[in-house]
Amino acid sequence: MSVARRALGRVLKPVIRRHSSFVGSVVAVKTSEPHVVLTYDDGPEPGGTDQILAALADRRATATFFVLLTRARAHPGLLNEVMSEGHEVALHGQDHRCLTQFSSEEVRRRTQSGKNELEDLTGRSVGWMRPPYGRQTFASWRAVMATGLHPVMWGPTTWDSRHISQAERVQKALDGTVRGSILLAHDGYAGPADGVDDGPVPKVDRGDLTRRVLDGFSELGLQGQSLSASLRSGTPVRAAWFKR
Ligand SMILES: [Zn+2]
Repeated sequence: MSVARRALGRVLKPVIRRHSSFVGSVVAVKTSEPHVVLTYDDGPEPGGTDQILAALADRRATATFFVLLTRARAHPGLLNEVMSEGHEVALHGQDHRCLTQFSSEEVRRRTQSGKNELEDLTGRSVGWMRPPYGRQTFASWRAVMATGLHPVMWGPTTWDSRHISQAERVQKALDGTVRGSILLAHDGYAGPADGVDDGPVPKVDRGDLTRRVLDGFSELGLQGQSLSASLRSGTPVRAAWFKR
């Protein structure tokens, strides 16, 4: 990065922080309902998505699935199941490559064509986008917003991409979860077919993890909801989230 750009960044950062409602990504929901927003990234994946769908049905919860086009094209039946079970479909990307490596014009083009293709596949309008790895710059945020999609990040996570025990994952998900939190979880694991190499696939029983996390929420009096379902009675909380 040039010296001039770095200097400009130093000037802009506090301004961006002060006006985060204008340059923000959705990071939570302000709600008086006992909702936790459930989000699943990197699917659809056979053996992951189907197990999670069964667990969500058991616990009468809904979720938002941020899908990869590389996966949605390969598993249209699973994508249809997600919708027919009453869940929400949103965009994670054409593939899992980090948006910050592309020019703004390329981010806009990739996101617009991903949105169009996902809307063709689902027959529904798509409103949300989660940038892979939660990485975005002000320029990539603006390019995504130009397509009509709103970037959505998260609060607590299940750490289900890590090689740790299931009990640790459940604890991690429960830690810091409050009414209106957006929880990050995964129904798949991106790999070379999605344009990335993030190492060996972690062993996760995703259905069991969903059940245990939802049981923990239930003890706290909280229910899992998709983002759009929760926003029927709540309002989005936006914050400036920029991370290369
Ligand atoms: Zn992802």
